[in-house]
This record gives sequence, structure tokens and C-alpha cells, in this order.
Amino acid sequence: MRSYTPFISGKFIDWQGDTIPSINPATGLVWSHIAKCDTSEADVAIRDADLAFRAGPWAQLDPPGRADMLEAMADMLEERWEELVEPEILDNGKRIAEVRGQLSGLHCWYRHFAAEARKLAPVPQSNSTPGVTSEGHWSPYGVVVAITPWNSPLMILAWKLAPALAAGNTVVVKPSEMASASTLEFTRLVCEAGLPPGVLNVVTGWGHEVGEALVRHPLTRKVSFTGSDIGGRKVAQAAAGQVVPTTLELGGKSPQVVFADCDLDSAINGVMSGIFLSNGQTCVAGSRLIVEARIKDAMISRLLERSRSLKPGDPFDPNTQIAPLANEPHLRKVTAMIEQAKADGANCLLDGTQTVKGIGGYYVGPTIFDQVSPDMQIWREEVFGPVLSIATFESEDEAIALANDSDYGLSAGVWTTDAAKAARVAEAICAGTVYINHYRSVDPGSPIGGVKLSGYGRELGPGAITDFLQVKSIWTGTTPVSNPFL
Ligand code: NAD
Repeated sequence: MRSYTPFISGKFIDWQGDTIPSINPATGLVWSHIAKCDTSEADVAIRDADLAFRAGPWAQLDPPGRADMLEAMADMLEERWEELVEPEILDNGKRIAEVRGQLSGLHCWYRHFAAEARKLAPVPQSNSTPGVTSEGHWSPYGVVVAITPWNSPLMILAWKLAPALAAGNTVVVKPSEMASASTLEFTRLVCEAGLPPGVLNVVTGWGHEVGEALVRHPLTRKVSFTGSDIGGRKVAQAAAGQVVPTTLELGGKSPQVVFADCDLDSAINGVMSGIFLSNGQTCVAGSRLIVEARIKDAMISRLLERSRSLKPGDPFDPNTQIAPLANEPHLRKVTAMIEQAKADGANCLLDGTQTVKGIGGYYVGPTIFDQVSPDMQIWREEVFGPVLSIATFESEDEAIALANDSDYGLSAGVWTTDAAKAARVAEAICAGTVYINHYRSVDPGSPIGGVKLSGYGRELGPGAITDFLQVKSIWTGTTPVSNPFL
């Protein structure tokens, strides 16, 4: 049985305290244990990160020096990323094709932000006050707390860690209690690549214990959180107590608006990937299909045929198309929401709790409801599972109203061959990202983030490094100061 210990001050610490079991979702069996840290480890990690920020080799590095460090991390990841595949699959059950896809490209995020660090432009500033010159300097915050979820632990960590380090901060990571192993294995690798002690620390345990202790710590200067809106509210409240800025990347209930004039094959592929990749456990899951009434029957019959053919199985088997949900509490939540939708009167066209009977592990297969009305829980709340809800529209205005009838606003898809209509609808939809005739891609150069309950702030894009920097204005008098009372 493997055990994973926190990483503080450049080493894995000897752990004699309580642990949390890590369970393989494909079997329901414990495969490792992680340390259940509390406020004392949070305190040690934050103090160590603060020391590394103020003194030592990291504090001496300029942006090109930090870029060299990120390149060294990227080189290590490009060479040894395969070591990270197994722990991530054992922890969250994601199928191997998707995990290999994400992790084989992990180094690219670090290379991108290395290049961005080299290009960091001076702070633009103008000053017309007579008798002074002034200039703006970028200054890193200091200790950044990065809190990550279980669905894509290392990719989401890259979106925080790479720009935070490029900016010169030090970082304490709190991975999900459900999936911490790959983050600790990753940390071992990048520290072997030469990241100085204290620059990256990882503490594990429950969010409401060690996570909140990190956020409340008086030496924490910035928080970057990805997770549920419930967790995000608590983090924002705790951070407000120290007046610490936060970025919140939260959940979604993303609409896919499909017009009758779309390329139907492409739209079906986009809808399938939107809701059934990672078994719906992605923040951008396109869980609400809003389809023009006259193509509804054609669309549903194709979706049903495709969904029924997806093969559930072992996430390590490259032929598996449906892997398990990530953990048992989540299985219970998804199953309960499916039952509630039936009780509310939605029409269950495909019931993924039945199609996987007898497999064992935490499986739910593709599930499709139609006759869903906007007051039903299944339409309003994030399932974070393979559950698609379908509603129809007759007019463009009705489609936009349905898409925007949500407390969330993370992403949306629009499918039509009419470019003017696509542009109008994309403009009208309230979401951080709208994809036209495409879905789900992310790119380091394009910002992502949400509106409404999906959070605030953006990750990636041209502002990603400066989001981890503050501006300091330095004014210099060029003429003697006159007596202010004359
Ligand atoms: P979660 O909110 O339960 O946990 C996320 C992280 O926050 C974990 O590390 C957890 O330990 C920590 N946490 C929880 N409560 C905390 C508290 N009070 N103080 C400090 N830390 C706390 O979310 P989850 O179940 O791990 O992940 C699924 C959610 O994440 C979904 O809602 C999904 O949409 C969202 N998500 C969003 C994005 C995005 O980019 N917007 C990406 C991936 C996942």
C-alpha cells in the first residue's frame, strides 16, 4: 500500500499523523493513503513559502531566470510525464486515453508561461505632474495558495502554478482530498528539475480544515481556487477576512444551442464530447441541450444510438469509452439527481444507472432526459456527471432566453451555419466562453473563467502572469519641494 506525505521545504516530510484513504473508483478498493494535514502543517508550509519568497535563490531570479526554471520543469515533464499517469487514474478513474492526452501536453503550459515571462512588458504609466518622474514596477504578491479539484488535478494546477511562478511568487498547493497523489508525484519531478526548496509546497487533507487554514493564514497574499461554487464561496469569505484577492473558477451548467441549419454530424460530435468526455466530470460539461424543435427527433435518435454504443470498462484499458465516476459520494450525488429528475417528471430516454449494472466500481453511463422544464433541479443544478437534459426552442430569442436561464455562466456552444446568427447568439449568451461550431478546447493564450455562480477572474490568456503581479508606482521628485504653507 502506497502512502503519500506532504511536501514542505523541498522534501517529503515524515508523517506519523492521521491519514485519508485514496480509493480506486474502478474497484472501490483503497490503493494508497494521504496525510490528513491540519492548521500546523498549513502554518509551516506558508511560513516556508514566505521565507523562500523573501530570501534564497528564488528571490534572486529575474523574469528570464524564472523562465529558465519553468523551461527546466517543462523538460522534466516532457521526459517523464508517463510516471504521472497511473496515480492520476487510480485517484480519479479517468480513462487512460484522456489522461495521457492531458499529461503528455503538460509541459506545454510551463513552456508557454516561460516564454510569457521573457516577454513581460514594463508597466505602462503616464504622469503629467510637474517636477516628478514616475515609473511602474511589477511586484509579485508573495505566497499564493492554489486549491485544486479532483477532475483534472495536474492540468488545472498548471494553469495556476506556471503563471504564479513566472511572476515570481511562491506557491502552496492544496490538492483535492480525493486526488492528491499525482500532484505529489508531479512535485517530486519538478523539484528534481531544480525548483529551489520552499518555492512549491503541497499539503494534503480536507478543504474545510487545511484548505481553509491556508486561505486564512496572515502570510497568504493571493488565492487561486478551482472547485464547486459551495467551496468557492467559503474560500472567498475566508480570504475576505485577510483582504486577500481570489480567483474563483467554479462550476457550470453550460448550454449547447443547436439550430436546425447546423452541420448535424459536427453538432452531435460536439454535444457528445461536451457531456460524455470524462464522464461529464468537467466544469465546461455541456449539460443542457437546447435544440431547435424541428430537428429534435433526428438529433435525439442519433444521440441515443451513439450513447448506447459507448463501452464502459477499466479506465486503464485503452478501448474503454466510459470510465467510472471519481468517488463514491459523487456516485451517490449523481444517482440521486437522476432519480429526482424522474420524480420531477423529466422523460428518461437513457438511464445510465441501469446500463452499467453489474460492473462494480462507481459507474454511471450516459443518461439523457427530454421534456425537461427550466424549474427542474436537473436543468438548474450542476450534476458533474454524464447527464444530458434536453429542451427545445422555436425562435432565436427563445433559445437565448433558455441558455441564459441559469445561475451559472461558464461556457456555451452555438451550432449553426449562419455566421451572423452565430455572432448574435454568442454575444447574447452570458458566459465566460462561447464556442461556435466547436466545443471544449482550451489554449494557454485564451482566457477562461466564468460569470455569475461560475466565478470571477480569469486564468490563462495574456493577463495570466500579471494576474499574479501587483503594480508598484515609484515617483521621484526632480525639483526641490516648495513650502506647502506659503
Ligand atoms: P470542491 O469545491 O469540493 O473542492 C475543490 C477543492 O477545494 C478541494 O481541494 C477541496 O479540498 C477544497 N475545499 C473545499 N472546501 C474548502 C474550504 N472551505 N476552504 C478551502 N478549500 C476548500 O470541488 P470538487 O468536487 O473537488 O470539484 C468539482 C467542482 O469543481 C465542480 O463544481 C466543477 O465544475 C468545478 N471545476 C471548475 C473548473 C473551472 O475551471 N471553472 C475546473 C474544474 C472543476
